[in-house]
Amino acid sequence: LGRHRDDQRQSGFTYNGVEFSQNNLNVFAGLCAVDTPEHVEIMMRTLQEHGQQCTRMGAYKPRTNPYSFQGHGRNCLPWVFETAGKHDIRVVAMEITHESHIEEIHECLEKLGRPTGVMLQVGTRNTQNFELLKAIGRQKTYPVLLKRGFGITLNESLNAAEYLASEGNANVVFCLRGMKSDAGHPHRNMVDFAHVPTVKRLTRMPVCVDPSHSVGSRDKAPDGIPDVMHATAQGVIAGANMVLVDFHPKPEKALVDGPQALLMDELPAYLEDIRLCHQLW
Ligand code: PEP
Repeated sequence: LGRHRDDQRQSGFTYNGVEFSQNNLNVFAGLCAVDTPEHVEIMMRTLQEHGQQCTRMGAYKPRTNPYSFQGHGRNCLPWVFETAGKHDIRVVAMEITHESHIEEIHECLEKLGRPTGVMLQVGTRNTQNFELLKAIGRQKTYPVLLKRGFGITLNESLNAAEYLASEGNANVVFCLRGMKSDAGHPHRNMVDFAHVPTVKRLTRMPVCVDPSHSVGSRDKAPDGIPDVMHATAQGVIAGANMVLVDFHPKPEKALVDGPQALLMDELPAYLEDIRLCHQLW
């Protein structure tokens, strides 16, 4: 991935008609966790109405508590992908936590005639799960969204990206999602979006920011704007190429991370804010 940028190889890639590079910006608004077909339909329809071609949808959820909802897993894949295809969503970012999930996703997409595409997400808890990284790196069908590890050095997280590339898959987007820190209070994590230009300097990877998992709440600043929006603006002005963000039609009913999901009626202002910030960059 060009850690030392000692050659002129092209940055980024195109997947399913969508370009991912260090020079453009894609928004992946969507559900942290897939819950009901109705919510998935509302989400995809609203995204299409606002000209979006990408989304995030969690089917396999890595949870701290074993008794918490673990995601619908493979059972929801057919209706999630069909609904995405129906609304012309080209790329669904979906975290996987085990290498068997690659085949489950692949089988389902093939059976449905690939109505949409998938970007395989490696979550922050798996940034150093080397066997998972190697398995994902060995397949070249799907691009990868790699989250920064929450308690390791940046260099260690960039080495995780090299695990993917060294196995053959260099279609990797690197995602900043905040670092665990007591000093981060009242946010769940310390927002680390000042590192967007750093990662772009050190590598050729497009850089994503995840304001939802960085901030961890829908709290508003005194200006009435949610902290998630402020953090997004910081990331985009710093040059982010992708934004991964949680929205939900009924956050009070969400099965995972409802308190951080933005409301659907906030989507237009959120997208407009991103557009304006991107112009500044
Ligand atoms: C997520 O994006 O759904 C998620 C769990 O994020 P992270 O791995 O950054 O905690």
